[in-house]
Amino acid sequence: MGLKDPAWYRESLRDGRITYIAGESVPDITQDPWFEVPIRNAEQDYVYDDPETRDIRVYETEDGTLAHRIFKVPMSEEDLEKRIQLAHITSISTAVSAVLMALYNIKGQVAQVNGQYAENIERIYRHCRDNDLRADQVITDAKGDRSRHPKDQDDPDLYMRILDKNQDGIYVRGAKLHITGASLVHEQTVMPTKAMGPGEEQWAVSFSVPTNTPGVKIINRAYARPGLSEMDYPLSATHNAPEGFVIFDDVFVPWDRVFLAGEYELAGILAHSLGLWERIGGLIGMVERSRLLVGTAQLLCEMNGIHRASHIQEKISDLVFYAEMLRMSLEHAIRNYKVTETGMVYPDPLAVNVGKFYGAANWHLMVQKLHDMGGGLVITLPTEADYRNEEITRYMDKYLHTKSDVPVEDRMRMYNLIRDMTADAYGGWELVTTLAAGGGLAAQRIVTMREYDLEGAKDAAREAAGIIPKHPAHAK
Ligand SMILES: Cc1cc2nc3c(=O)[nH]c(=O)nc-3n(C[C@H](O)[C@H](O)[C@H](O)COP(=O)(O)OP(=O)(O)OC[C@H]3O[C@@H](n4cnc5c(N)ncnc54)[C@H](O)[C@@H]3O)c2cc1C
Repeated sequence: MGLKDPAWYRESLRDGRITYIAGESVPDITQDPWFEVPIRNAEQDYVYDDPETRDIRVYETEDGTLAHRIFKVPMSEEDLEKRIQLAHITSISTAVSAVLMALYNIKGQVAQVNGQYAENIERIYRHCRDNDLRADQVITDAKGDRSRHPKDQDDPDLYMRILDKNQDGIYVRGAKLHITGASLVHEQTVMPTKAMGPGEEQWAVSFSVPTNTPGVKIINRAYARPGLSEMDYPLSATHNAPEGFVIFDDVFVPWDRVFLAGEYELAGILAHSLGLWERIGGLIGMVERSRLLVGTAQLLCEMNGIHRASHIQEKISDLVFYAEMLRMSLEHAIRNYKVTETGMVYPDPLAVNVGKFYGAANWHLMVQKLHDMGGGLVITLPTEADYRNEEITRYMDKYLHTKSDVPVEDRMRMYNLIRDMTADAYGGWELVTTLAAGGGLAAQRIVTMREYDLEGAKDAAREAAGIIPKHPAHAK
């Protein structure tokens, strides 16, 4: 019980979990080079004695114990702000544990349909919180032919489903795709990918099982191979966590770990419980990256002597508009927080979805501007190994020179940052992730249109056209 430490976390991963990477089975991820960086980053979330981050990382539970803040349901503006700060210092493998906080918060709605499921949610939440465990968000199904319902697919397993039930529990089969940090967490917390209807009871399923449960198999996909140079790959070499293709091969789940087994009316509630928290996570990341984009562009253009050119200034100001729109969306979302009936404080969904949509829809355009400013060296710059080769160094120093106050190595680092951030390992991943993670653009459109005050806008048009009298406050 209680807060653990990095060594405990590392050891806890040696539990016989079945994982694969690059075509090989991995008997012990703590010994595998592919997992070195992700585990090192995840371990940092267990450092609780740093006075600078302790107050952000730790909170006191209602029982008087200490726990990681990822489990705290925000109940005040201060809680919400601390949660945002936490996102800046937390590895993705801990960030995804927000799934338990989101589930805990909807247990009242779940209880209205099935009290036992609500009790199970509370028990698993407390089990993870009190033992400092991590859980992932196992939601996205394989989905087969997107135009067909689960029951109409060629293979019924294309959506996770219940194969059988008995007095002890349920048997499930299916695969969940793209699951962030799946091999790095202790609990696989499964939820339906979408609302289900009558006739879809077997696909209305939610539960949580330990990662080493028999039948759970994870195929990892990482964007950065091990051993990358930090100079060549400043982001990929230091930040990566594989996504998991998580297979549930006839997995047995005892009843006390089941959150839903057939009551289709709960599927949508569970499926949507996390969306806002995923998207604000995405927005926070975009705010950070957009600022980095501005700084990178400005610095490189200064190094190359083009920063005063009008077309460059225009492009950089476009990046600033982008960065500021995102920053303001985030700030607006926090300042205009909402409160649920249970007292949970959450960011304004309209601002979060508009910000996430705007950031995702325009990232590629901003990257295009950066590439245009950077030129061909973005992808053809020789590597660090070339630069360290004595036969080559002097040529690179000579021909990569721009001006006396710009060390060639610094200029190389800027180009490497641009390539890695936008056109190589991490960058390729980011191009797709920006669009897909937290639901695609269409999902944000749906929420935005649901949240936007369309009736208010229509009334404004009616007033302006003289169809209805002007509101006194609007009369000029
Ligand atoms: C790096 C990364 C990390 C992720 N992490 C997680 C995670 O931790 N947990 C998790 O559960 N998921 C995760 N995801 C999955 C993410 O939520 C999905 O990628 C996203 O919801 C889109 O689903 P999809 O990939 O199946 O694409 P699709 O659903 O196939 O979407 C592709 C396109 O098809 C359209 N489309 C799909 N269905 C229909 C339809 N019925 N009618 C019309 N158009 C349709 C979509 O709008 C989109 O334009 C992650 C994804 C990425 C890339």
